Amino acid sequence: MTINVVTEDEANKKVCCRDAVGVLCSASSCMAWRWQPLQTDEPNFLAAIQSYMAKEKCSHQKACAYVHANRKEFNLRSEPYQGFCGLAGSCKVA
Ligand SMILES: [Zn+2]
Repeated sequence: MTINVVTEDEANKKVCCRDAVGVLCSASSCMAWRWQPLQTDEPNFLAAIQSYMAKEKCSHQKACAYVHANRKEFNLRSEPYQGFCGLAGSCKVA
């Protein structure tokens, strides 16, 4: 089963998984809402690592650790912003 991860605004436009009569999901206010942890394979995150490596002439590992610890400095989100409505605990593709 595949579950599409969406932002809260997108979830507000979708029918809630708990409701069969068409009530829209209230995202993080919904009892079935699950936050998606921040991903480290986002293009913006990878680009920040590349630019930090070029600027500081450091290893990928060091740049990765620095960017991850200083996300705001790189205009990266520091809080989860996507999730999904569902009672299944995982969004992994089976
Ligand atoms: Zn819901």
